[in-house]
Amino acid sequence: MGDTEKRSVAIVGSGPGGMYVAQALVEKAPDCRIDIFDRLPTPFGLIRGGVAPDHQHTKRVDRKYADTITENRQIRYIGNVTLGQDVSLDDLAAIYDAVVLAYGAPYDNKLGIPGEDKKNVFGSNAFVGWYNCHPDFKDLGPDLKIDGAVVIGVGNVAVDVARVLARTPEEMATTDIADYAISAIDASPLKDIWMIGRRGPIEAAFTNTELKELGALTDATAVVDASIVPAEPPADMDDRDRKVRQRILDTLRGLSEGKAGEKRRTIHIEFFGSPVEILGGDRVEGIRMERTKVEDGRCIPTGETYDIPCQMVVTCIGSRAQAIEGIPFDEQRGIVAHADGKVAPGVYAAGWLKRGATGTIGTNRLDSYAVTDLLISEFDGPLKPGPDAFDALAAERRLNPLSFDDWQRIKELEEKAASDPAPRRKFSTVEEMLAGLGRS
Ligand code: NAP
Repeated sequence: MGDTEKRSVAIVGSGPGGMYVAQALVEKAPDCRIDIFDRLPTPFGLIRGGVAPDHQHTKRVDRKYADTITENRQIRYIGNVTLGQDVSLDDLAAIYDAVVLAYGAPYDNKLGIPGEDKKNVFGSNAFVGWYNCHPDFKDLGPDLKIDGAVVIGVGNVAVDVARVLARTPEEMATTDIADYAISAIDASPLKDIWMIGRRGPIEAAFTNTELKELGALTDATAVVDASIVPAEPPADMDDRDRKVRQRILDTLRGLSEGKAGEKRRTIHIEFFGSPVEILGGDRVEGIRMERTKVEDGRCIPTGETYDIPCQMVVTCIGSRAQAIEGIPFDEQRGIVAHADGKVAPGVYAAGWLKRGATGTIGTNRLDSYAVTDLLISEFDGPLKPGPDAFDALAAERRLNPLSFDDWQRIKELEEKAASDPAPRRKFSTVEEMLAGLGRS
């Protein structure tokens, strides 16, 4: 291990990837000073803006992250500062002994098919951000005066989107969904939601716990065609995967007993369909799908197409990071270019920016701890000036950095504004947050 005394680290991004690096540094290099940057006033990335509002239990991990910051005097949270705009990587690398880039992968992958630019076609980051009050997507303006919506993909994000579209206001009363979103969802005449996988039930990316929730909705039924659900997983799967997959197949078979139309909304879970064109004029009027088959796990188009009438499409097909000038980028994978977490001397990557948008919140822990070990082992050379130099730079550039106390004040205001039993009523713009703090 390198000498950690008086070393300083900048972590850019306060989502799970960045927060587990902070936690690892506290444990392994307690002498090190740590500044955690975020472009928003609000910390914790996907925990606030990505995790579904009806999964409040999942969001509770933010309490652990908050403790990491408040219980360790060597850590500062610096919100409202954007890398690539307010500060460059070169600025940070000149100030801190190490920089960890952990600003996530929040940009939607594209289908790359005709019609994707029509009104009412959204990527999941945008759509989820809209109902989660993310300042970037508050004004997304989906038109929910529709009777059919198609969700492309069968990962957990697709399940989140289908479920939130099917929930009642009563079911969402204990959540922090945006008021404007639940009002629009409730007022919508939406009847049919299709969630479509291009491969089959054996390959579907959702997990069983999330799938099961679709079978327990108050005013929506999830349906699936039993004839496409195999009785059991292929024999060549290893034992652990077989058990996991068997549970998913059993859940799907259970859902196949549901009847379309028996409740206000129906979620049609479909497989073996790949989108080829989004139909309509300016707006979506339908989607053309091509039937597929799966060979050796690969999706093979059959040439046979069918149309689904719908007026909204939400693609939940994964996401990629933003390329920032001066930071090496792997265009193909949509992540920062790195070797085992090392981007350049003294610069490292963590979280989805490093691995791509896969895995659970917990997956970040192990990975961030490994990156932290590497970083500490490479502390070398003369000490850099550290956090005070950032304060000087912020003053010189007239930045408006916010502290963790500022965030806690914003949090209190949001909790105060909530109507019981909702946990909080989120601000949806940075301006509102700053006004709440009496800052401009
Ligand atoms: P994901 O799990 O990778 O699922 C993406 C889905 O999109 C897959 O069904 C994939 O099909 C499909 N897809 C990709 N490209 C496509 C294309 N061109 N046309 C049609 N379909 C396409 O991604 P995600 O749902 O965004 O989730 C990201 C990560 O967050 C996952 O690890 C997920 O488990 C996690 N997450 C967890 C939770 C939770 O635990 N509750 C909630 C949300 C997210 P193929 O498999 O055929 O490529």
